[in-house]
Amino acid sequence: MDGGIFCSFCKSEAVVTLAYANSCMCKKHFCEYVEKRFRRTVREFSMLKKGELVGIGLSGGKDSSVLLHLMHSLSKSLPLRLVAITIDEGIKGYRPPTVKIARQEAKKLGIMHKTYSFASVYGYSMDSVMKGKPQEAACSYCGVFRRHLLNKACKELGVQKLAIGHNLDDVSQTVLMNIMRNEPMRLLRFGGVAGIIEDEGFVPRIKPLMRIPEREIGLYAILKGIPIKFQECPYAYTAMRQTVRAQLNEMEEKYPGTKFRILNSFLEIKKIAKPPPPKERLKYCEKCGEPTNSKICACCKLVEKLD
Ligand code: SF4
Repeated sequence: MDGGIFCSFCKSEAVVTLAYANSCMCKKHFCEYVEKRFRRTVREFSMLKKGELVGIGLSGGKDSSVLLHLMHSLSKSLPLRLVAITIDEGIKGYRPPTVKIARQEAKKLGIMHKTYSFASVYGYSMDSVMKGKPQEAACSYCGVFRRHLLNKACKELGVQKLAIGHNLDDVSQTVLMNIMRNEPMRLLRFGGVAGIIEDEGFVPRIKPLMRIPEREIGLYAILKGIPIKFQECPYAYTAMRQTVRAQLNEMEEKYPGTKFRILNSFLEIKKIAKPPPPKERLKYCEKCGEPTNSKICACCKLVEKLD
């Protein structure tokens, strides 16, 4: 050995150093490590059952593409039926290349793929929604439409669970942001398989990548030849999440394992939270029939406003 960095498990050349695990890993051991954590998370939270029809939210970005590949390999041992669902928000220059990747990757793996666009369902692309509006309004419009459309699409397709590509960074940021905004009920609703909103109008969401840091998902994608597009949404607004993200990364650098500890604390708090949060009584939107807690859902209200 001549001063290189070597795998802690087999002494081959290492491709990554994981400070929180106090180890270095070669390509083979690192990929196995990612795959094991994905499977363990699915088992630990009993996320999936044999034979279920599982939707995969596939934007074509690195997280959802890696999720697609991992779900595909899992579906061989735990028979599952898969359908990839892409939401095209209608953002010129940003979304079309990832929609193309989504289509290609699903085809490569033989997974049924469906694309739904804001423009065809709501009559407005994000580009048209944003005309004359301040940039910081974008994500709230986009988020409301996306959640609504994903749920609607899942129900149309008969999907029983929806897997989304939220990674450890996304989850730990969300936990901190809910605490900082003093939104404990929102925090308790977050995570797990279905959260506390149990209603047949909502398709339960699962996050099988929640124990995998973002940077490891990127590396896994590169090592496995899964295409990645490094492009940021032109409407991405430097909001609280970006600050939390930068500070969490700094903390992780200084105190390896911080993100895991935030996730684990959150999971423990969820287990012991007493009394259990009350179930929310849901109504159904008078316009579109989707679950909501008022007469008209947030999505239909936005469309009305745009009309
Ligand atoms: Fe939508 Fe905001 Fe994400 Fe852009 S950054 S895709 S506007 S949620």
